Amino acid sequence: ATPLAMIRGGGMAAERGILMRSAEAFQALKDVKRVVLDKTGTITLGQPAVVDVVPLGKFDRADILRFAAALESSSEHPLARAVVNAAEAEHTELPPVQDFHSVAGKGVTGTMNGQRVRVGSPRFVGEGGALERATSTIEALQARAKTVIALEVNGQPEALIAIADQIKPDAHEAIERLYDAGLAPIMITGDNHLTARAVAEQVGIQEFQAEVLPQDKADAVRELQRQGHRVAMVGDGINDAPALMQADVGIATGAGTDIAIESADVVLIGERLTAVVDAYHIGRASFRKTV
Ligand code: ADP
Ligand code: MG
Repeated sequence: ATPLAMIRGGGMAAERGILMRSAEAFQALKDVKRVVLDKTGTITLGQPAVVDVVPLGKFDRADILRFAAALESSSEHPLARAVVNAAEAEHTELPPVQDFHSVAGKGVTGTMNGQRVRVGSPRFVGEGGALERATSTIEALQARAKTVIALEVNGQPEALIAIADQIKPDAHEAIERLYDAGLAPIMITGDNHLTARAVAEQVGIQEFQAEVLPQDKADAVRELQRQGHRVAMVGDGINDAPALMQADVGIATGAGTDIAIESADVVLIGERLTAVVDAYHIGRASFRKTV
């Protein structure tokens, strides 16, 4: 491409809220064949909210929110923010937590008033089979695209907390346009299989991988590259940085964390997921003489 074509391309991109961070980004975009999308914050708005609290033991709603939010107030995960927001909306006081630990892609643990508290995915909290009798409730919530986390206190399951995140208004259109452009999209998420499938169906994405641990997202990108594809990765989270760097083109969405933005070749300003398709077409157009 001529420098002039790229300058024009950069201008067109900027008008659509797309920031090309390098000349190489244009070059790489036009050769992309697969687009990997993160779920939370990329296909969804990334503003999850608590929609159901299901007691499983002796705790009532206020106890559940107090224990879960006290622990989650030390976590930076979007799900943690949802729990803290729910507790704050009900003016729940949050006691201090000791021995806080965060397990990437799984959940958090700590001690509160001498009691051991664990909040995280049902798989993580229910490791020893403690959530078995709640399985059908969990699955019913997940099948409605909700993310379910569980609260355990002193080894006893106390609650399920269902969290919902809205799908971006243009997500369905974006996926359709990716297929039209011949760029088979694939969604990769740390969330469970049922929730992932419900979201994939809603946006019309045919291929997805669920329960992918943060450190394995980059491997998933590498595997697609090994199959001979140029891969673009679209993500927003702290977990997505290695995958963004591994991809031939890393695309960070606007609400993304600083680390995601720093790891990306292209930054999308705002919430439009269709900007991914626009970026691809602008990248291609920049390499045609007529631009
Ligand atoms: P995603 O790929 O959707 O961004 P993550 O890999 O960050 O998801 O997390 C995967 C799963 O781990 C979440 O769906 C949740 O069940 C659990 N999890 C991770 N961090 C937390 C947390 N702070 N509180 C509760 N659950 C968590
Ligand atoms: Mg994410």
